[in-house]
Order: sequence, then structure tokens, then C-alpha cells
Amino acid sequence: MAPAPRSQLVALRERALGEIAPDRNLEFKGIVPNLFEQARRDPRLERDIIRLQKERNAIILCHNYQMPEIYEIADFIGDSFGLSRMAQQADAEVIVFCGVHFMAESAAILNPDKRVLLPVLYAGCGMADMISAEGLCELKSEHPDAAVVCYVNSSADVKAESDICCTSSNVVQVVRSLREKKVIMVPDKNLAAYAQRMVPEKTLIAWEGWCPIHHGLATGELDSIKQQYPGAEIIAHPECQADMLGKADMVTSTSGMLTHARSSPAKEFIIVTECGMSNMLRREMPGKKFIPVCQICPDMKKIDLFSVKRSLEQMQFEITVPRRVAERARLALERMMAIAP
Ligand code: SF4
Repeated sequence: MAPAPRSQLVALRERALGEIAPDRNLEFKGIVPNLFEQARRDPRLERDIIRLQKERNAIILCHNYQMPEIYEIADFIGDSFGLSRMAQQADAEVIVFCGVHFMAESAAILNPDKRVLLPVLYAGCGMADMISAEGLCELKSEHPDAAVVCYVNSSADVKAESDICCTSSNVVQVVRSLREKKVIMVPDKNLAAYAQRMVPEKTLIAWEGWCPIHHGLATGELDSIKQQYPGAEIIAHPECQADMLGKADMVTSTSGMLTHARSSPAKEFIIVTECGMSNMLRREMPGKKFIPVCQICPDMKKIDLFSVKRSLEQMQFEITVPRRVAERARLALERMMAIAP
């Protein structure tokens, strides 16, 4: 099946979101997070998936924010970029990426010899959709002396127009490494503001984009939870707004949260990011307590066991990136890997 053009994917996703969340992400705030905490396991479907996985010589990658039942069938659980790199080392012909569209694109860019499948085609990202390659080119023409840093949470087209990529864990290192004093940073203005605070010697020009999930987290909720758990360490994701990050003991990526919680002597942590992360941390460290201050990302909850099985059966939905775009985007990713392997 030929992959659908990106504009069609965005339209498809908008429609799907409209059906399940007419008020976009806001109403997911009201859903009892418990609904997303229990793994809805299905032994028959799991057996089918394992069988198909062997037949297809596939690996299943699962982002930290996915539903708990997906953790149970995954070969690797992690953050988007870590998973793509993991896939590079795996001896598999097929990658089933349980995440969102831009993640599957990155996996396809870094693994051109493997087939990459996204089980639900319209699992997208509200932040990645806030910028286009054309928009970035316009901004570049206004600042011809600036380097362009692109957060990995962006489309392949946008990466291809960028000098270098960054993740939420290496953004400071990447910005510091640049020769240019002026730096355009896309698409997340909160990540850019965080980098600006950490690297004051540079001038960052931020794209007006944000993650609807992290940007919407409010400090009021954090304050009341902190009152209940005064000894808990607060760990927040840098996609949150500055006032939230100002209250955190540690600001780090999802993989950084895992590493830190493992090594910290603390027994209680308040986790400020998408709700799925606390599920993952509880699974990894049952002896510690993780209290979420979170919102649910509807795009991250679209994949279920049935769609993974269908994906392997029908080899859908294959995500490909046009060769010219992939080559330029790979360069931006490789420059990042050279600085922060
Ligand atoms: S949590 Fe935010 S950045 Fe991640 S997929 Fe959802 S909208 Fe995109």
C-alpha cells in the first residue's frame, strides 16, 4: 500500500480526534487516569502477536506513554529517539512502532533497510503538526545567520530543513555546541525557553509551538499534591511551561526520569509529564511511589493489541520518507548523535 501524503494524515487525525475528543485534549483531563493505568491484557491476542512477530521477523517498540498492555508485548520500551537507535542494532526486518507518526518516521530515516509499521495511521502529534517545512524556511530567511535546531518531535520534512536535531535530554548540549550565536529552535517554545535559560550566551528564536499536553499542566495541581507528599522529589519534563519547571527538583526527558528515579535514594516522586510515564515507572520500580501530575495524550493511546496484531498481519501502515528528505533529515540526526551519542 502506498503511504498517504502527510497532509492527508493530518486531516485524518484531526477528524479522528474530533470524534473521540471534540474539545481536543482538554476533555482528557477529566478522564479518571485509572482507565489508563491497568493493562487490559488478552492472552489470545498476545499469542497471535508473538506468532506473527516471529513469522515477520519483527521487533515491537513501545514509547513510554503507550497503554500498559502494549508494554507487555514490546521488545523495548523507551523514548522516541532511544527506540529508533535500538532498532538500528536489532536483527529484524520489520519494526512495529507503537508511538506516533513522527517517531515511526525517525525509525524509517535511521533504518532505511527495514520496513517500519505504525499500527494506527492517524496517531499523530499536536506539537509536530504546529510547524511545516515552508513555515520554517520563511523563518530561516528572516534570520540567515542563525543555526536551526529541531526537536526530534517534528516531521521528517522539518528535520530536513534543520541543521541539527535535539532531544529533550541533550538540548542544552546541542545548543551549546553550535558555533552560531543566534539559534532558531523549533517547534517547542517551552523547550526553547528552557534551553535559553540554560545557555544564556546564545540568542534563541523560538517557533510558536507547544505540546498541548505538557503546556496545559498547571502549577496549582502540583502545589496541592506536593502538600500531600512534602518529601517527594518533583521531576518535570522540559516541554512544560517555565513556572512548572521552576518548581521541579529535576528537569529531564522520559528516559532521564527512569534513570534518575532508579538511582535516587528518594522513595516518592511527583512525575510531571504525560500520564503514561508514571505507569511505566511503577512497573519498573514497584518499591517506589510515583504520583502523577499529568494529562493524557489521546494520540498516544490509540494503539491497542488488536491494531498491533492487524499491523503485523496486513503489514500496515508502512511509514516511508522520500529519499531526498530522508537523507537531509538523517544528516540533522547524525550531527546530533555526533555531539550527544
Ligand atoms: S505528548 Fe505532546 S509531544 Fe508527545 S505525542 Fe502527545 S502531543 Fe506530541
